[in-house]
Amino acid sequence: MMQRDHLDWPFLEPRHKRLAEDLEQWSKQTLPPAHAHDQSLESVDRSCRQLVRLLGEGGWLKYGVGGVAYGGSADAIDTRAVCLIRETLARHSGLADFAFAMQGLGSGAISVFGSEEQKRRYLPRVAAGSAVAAFAISEPNAGSDVAALCCEARREGDAYVINGEKTWISNGGIADFYVLFARTGEGPGAKGITAFVVDASTPGLEIAERFRVMAPHPLARLVFRDCRIPAGQRLGESGQGFKVAMSTLDIFRSSVAAAALGFARRALVEALRRSTSRKMFGQTLSDFQITQARLAKMATDIDSAALLTYRAAWLKDLGRPVTVEAAMAKMTATEVAQQVIDAAIQMFGAQGVISDETVELLYREIRPLRIYEGATEVQQLIIARGIIKAYQEGVAPSAKGNKA
Ligand SMILES: Cc1cc2nc3c(=O)[nH]c(=O)nc-3n(C[C@H](O)[C@H](O)[C@H](O)COP(=O)(O)OP(=O)(O)OC[C@H]3O[C@@H](n4cnc5c(N)ncnc54)[C@H](O)[C@@H]3O)c2cc1C
Repeated sequence: MMQRDHLDWPFLEPRHKRLAEDLEQWSKQTLPPAHAHDQSLESVDRSCRQLVRLLGEGGWLKYGVGGVAYGGSADAIDTRAVCLIRETLARHSGLADFAFAMQGLGSGAISVFGSEEQKRRYLPRVAAGSAVAAFAISEPNAGSDVAALCCEARREGDAYVINGEKTWISNGGIADFYVLFARTGEGPGAKGITAFVVDASTPGLEIAERFRVMAPHPLARLVFRDCRIPAGQRLGESGQGFKVAMSTLDIFRSSVAAAALGFARRALVEALRRSTSRKMFGQTLSDFQITQARLAKMATDIDSAALLTYRAAWLKDLGRPVTVEAAMAKMTATEVAQQVIDAAIQMFGAQGVISDETVELLYREIRPLRIYEGATEVQQLIIARGIIKAYQEGVAPSAKGNKA
């Protein structure tokens, strides 16, 4: 598999390069082929659980967990490591990338905001791959506009009683616990939300619907009916749930960009393989300048997206604000990857649209990334708001990333 020189970029340290190389070897030897499961819900669930277990045994899940004492690779989540892992896994298997990403996203709020007891209870199992995590914020009427969520958690003595629903929840149906965001009413909109950890076995929590997805992975709608949890399951302070959610997304948003990069790099390799071997009109497809221009654009777009991605991850690891930079990375990498994969399919001709052909799998894998964790339009708003604010505060946009 072609590997460009990005592992030597100054954003990364020698340990990151070793990590990516080790994971590349492990992935080749251990991961089942990307199309190894059929698309039935049972098969996808089974494959996903198996991948979580494999990734845990391989020692990779600990990179998505913060706190060495709780099974993490370091005390703070290493965003660059998370990005490299997602990029590498995505080149091999979309479902393996998904399994890794959800363990981190589903437990990230516990790593950052959890009490000692919550960390001890959940994180070691997440890192080992023996507990499956999920992140539940979206609702039928609160997707992009998450502050409009209305699932309610009412305080009753030393418990909270939850009523409402969540939808499009990844790992819904196979998760052992859900980090849930519910309205507790301390204030309007974003000010009245609190985070909780809800065990999947809690009475009153029902998996009401399972969805089939174009890139198959577990996805469900959850219903909460008088679901009673101990007050100790609250994550962070009352009314701070929006901050908990956004801080978690700030860590993992650049990793969505990294996964998109992985899909795009794989598509470029496939396009090169195809275009340098397909004979037509007495030549090879890659001899035509139209093809060369397309390949040049694919490679350049991938490197541009990679630079934005690893800049955002590097800034996050330095402890700098990254909301704008992570949004730029997520928007650019997912949009570029969609175009790169589409161009690769075009070079494959009919073969490119045959089910389970690699480029066809990639075409299905990339599409949801432009929607979840903030659709492209939401990222545009985040970037614009950030640069307008910086301008009004007298900081030139180009200098923003360098502000301590
Ligand atoms: C595969 C998949 C997995 C997911 N996993 C999870 C999960 O684990 N947990 C979870 O909580 N949620 C999850 N989601 C939900 C996801 O976060 C939402 O789908 C996303 O936030 C968009 O919300 P929505 O689907 O309600 O679309 P809407 O909010 O209805 O938006 C529809 C479209 O409107 C456009 N749009 C949005 N805002 C603006 C604007 N301001 N201006 C112009 N256009 C705009 C965008 O193109 C957007 O795609 C998942 C979604 C998918 C597809």
